[in-house]
Amino acid sequence: EVRVRFAPSPTGFLHLGGLRTALYNYIFAKKYGGAFILRLEDTDQSRLVPGAAESIEDMLEWAGIPPDESPRRGGPCGPYLQSQRLDLYNQTARKLVESGHGYYCFCSPQRLELLKKEALRAGQTPRYDNRCRHLRVDQVQEKLAQGVPHVVRFRLEAGVEPFQDLIFGWNRHEVAQVEGDPVVIKADGFPTYHLANIVDDHYMKISHVLRGSEWLISTSKHLLMYRALGWTPPTFGHLPLLMNSDGSKLSKRQGDIFIENFCREGVLPEALLDITTNCGSGFTSNRMGRRLEELISEFNPSKITTHSALLDLEKLPEFNRIHLQQRIEDEQKCCVLIKDLQQQIQQVYAAEIQDKEVLEGDYIRRVLHLRKGHITSLKELVSPTYSYLWVRPSLSIQQVAALTKEASQIASLVLRLIEEQGEELSLDQLTKDLKSLPKQTKATKYREVMKLLRLVLSGLQQGPSIAEMMVSLGPAEIRHRFQKLLL
Ligand code: GLU
Repeated sequence: EVRVRFAPSPTGFLHLGGLRTALYNYIFAKKYGGAFILRLEDTDQSRLVPGAAESIEDMLEWAGIPPDESPRRGGPCGPYLQSQRLDLYNQTARKLVESGHGYYCFCSPQRLELLKKEALRAGQTPRYDNRCRHLRVDQVQEKLAQGVPHVVRFRLEAGVEPFQDLIFGWNRHEVAQVEGDPVVIKADGFPTYHLANIVDDHYMKISHVLRGSEWLISTSKHLLMYRALGWTPPTFGHLPLLMNSDGSKLSKRQGDIFIENFCREGVLPEALLDITTNCGSGFTSNRMGRRLEELISEFNPSKITTHSALLDLEKLPEFNRIHLQQRIEDEQKCCVLIKDLQQQIQQVYAAEIQDKEVLEGDYIRRVLHLRKGHITSLKELVSPTYSYLWVRPSLSIQQVAALTKEASQIASLVLRLIEEQGEELSLDQLTKDLKSLPKQTKATKYREVMKLLRLVLSGLQQGPSIAEMMVSLGPAEIRHRFQKLLL
C-alpha cells in the first residue's frame, strides 16, 4: 500500500518550495491509489511560529491538495502532531539504549561549546567526540540518580549503508567518519528531527519518503537507525531543489513566495500547481494550463531528474490568465467567480455605483466571457482600467469639445447604430459597423471619432476595443452614456 507524507515544521508558513513537495507527494499518492498524510514536525518548540500549523493545513486545502490524514482530519495512525507523540519517541530511545545502539550523554553545553571552538580554531568542522559512549554502567546510573541533565545519543556504526534513491540513484555516505554521534532525545525530553522523523515514518507505515534533496545527506544516518531498531526502511526519493530562475536560492524576501500571499493576491491555486511543476521534471508534458487531474495522469516518477527546477515567477500572470480562462469556461466555476467579483466590485466602488444592474450575474458573466484570455486575475477587473464597467465616467464638456465640434452628431449616429442592432449586440457586427461610422461625419477624422467614443464610454484613453466595451455595457447603458452629448 502506498502511503506518503508531507512533514513540514510549523516554524514558518507554507511557501512555494513546501507546496511543491506536498504536491509531488499528493500526486504520487493519487497516481498509485495511496494515502497522502500531513504530519507536523513541531519538536523544536523554541522556533514555533504562532498560527503556522493551522495555516499550513488551510493552504493545502486551498490549493486543492488536502491530506487524507492530518492533525485536523485525524486518521488511523494519529496523532499527526509530533509534540503529542513524545512517549513513542522516548520508548524508542530507551530501546536504542537497551540494545546498545544508544547512550546517555551528560556533557554540559559548556563542554560542547568548548569542543566546537577548538575545532573551529583548528580549521575543522565541529563534531561531538563521543566521550559519553565510554561511560561505565555504574557511572551512568550514578549520574542519572543525581539528576544530572542529559541527552540520549545514537551510536553511529562505522561503515557505509549504500541505498538507492528513486531520483538520485545509488548513494553511500560514511556517516561515522564525518559526524559525532547525533542527539536523538534533547535535554527537555523532546526528540530531535532525526529520531522523530523515522519513528513516525515507521509507525505511520510510510512506504515512500519524497522530500527535498537537502535531506539526502541525512538519509544514511536514518538508515543506520532503521537497522538498529530492526525496522524495514521506506523507499526514499529526493526531489531536486526549487530555485529562482537565475539559479539563486528561492527568495523569501518580502514574503513573496508564501502561499498565503498568492492567495490574497488572487492567484489561482491551479496556476501555482501548474507553474511549480512546469519548471521541474516528472511529467510527460510541460505545456501550460495543466489541471491537477492532468498532472496526475501525466506524472511519471522515473522522469524526475536531479536538475534543480528553475522557477520564473514572472510567468505567473500568464499561468493565471490561462487557468482563469478555464474557470470562466466552466459554468459551475464561473458562478463562483461571479460571486467573488460581485463582492470585490462592492468593496471597491460601493457608493459610486449608480446602476445596480452592474451587480447582476448575467452582466458580470458577459464581461467575464468577453475579457477571458486577456485578464490575468479577477482583481484586474476592479482596477481603474475597468472602472467604466461598474460606474459611469464623469465627462466634462471641455474634454469633449477639445476633440470635436461634431460630438452631438456623432452621438446620434451611435444611437442610431445601436437601434439598428437590436437588444443583443454582436461583437462582429458592431466592429464592422463602427468602421463605417466616421465616413458619415463631416469634419472629424476616424481617429478622433474613436477617441470620442472611447472617452464617452469609459472616460479613458485606452482599454479593450470600442466594440467590446459596447457589447459588455449593453444597449441601454450605451444610450445612457451618449444621450448626454445630444444637444
Ligand atoms: N520537518 C522536515 C522539514 O521541515 C521534514 C523533512 C522530511 O520530509 O523528512 O522539511
